Amino acid sequence: MPNVGGPKQKRRALLSSVVTSVLTYGIAIWVDALTLQKSQRKVAPVYRLSALRITSAFRTVSEDAVCVIAGVLPIGVLAEERRSLYRRRGSTSMSAEELKTEERQSSLKRWQQSWDASIKGRWTYRLISKVDRWFNRNHSAVNYYLTQMLSGHGCFRAYLYKFKYEDSPECLTCSGVKEDAEHAFFACPRFDTQRW
Ligand SMILES: [Zn+2]
Repeated sequence: MPNVGGPKQKRRALLSSVVTSVLTYGIAIWVDALTLQKSQRKVAPVYRLSALRITSAFRTVSEDAVCVIAGVLPIGVLAEERRSLYRRRGSTSMSAEELKTEERQSSLKRWQQSWDASIKGRWTYRLISKVDRWFNRNHSAVNYYLTQMLSGHGCFRAYLYKFKYEDSPECLTCSGVKEDAEHAFFACPRFDTQRW
């Protein structure tokens, strides 16, 4: 699926939901197996790749950050939610809809805690620190360009230099300054017009 000119986020998310459905089939039963490294190694890369495709992100973006940008619950949080729903169904007076809403709130809290504690994707964390606000927003799908800004992984000289695609991390306009996402979007005079 191409990053540029391919389907929009909504359609990508729909395709990804098929992957998630297959991947998490019966997960309420086997959620404990997710703690085993062997199962993690099988499930996590597929789930991460699916989130990468939703956001059109560079492959180097961490799982923690890409889940936030894509607005998809991390696999561990999702599995726990499914198990809790499975266990509580039939043992509560709440309607299925109320139960789902309550469990989703708890999931978002758990996700927030792990996002706060993560050491990965800290640039993304600076921009999107509250996962529930981002998850429940009603506007703006992400795309190849927006994801680069939100992840910091993209066509920035500092990033390209790290992977030896550029011979220097410096901005072409501002000598002595590293061109990363923060510089390109918030400081570099080269983009003053677009920023305005
Ligand atoms: Zn600059």
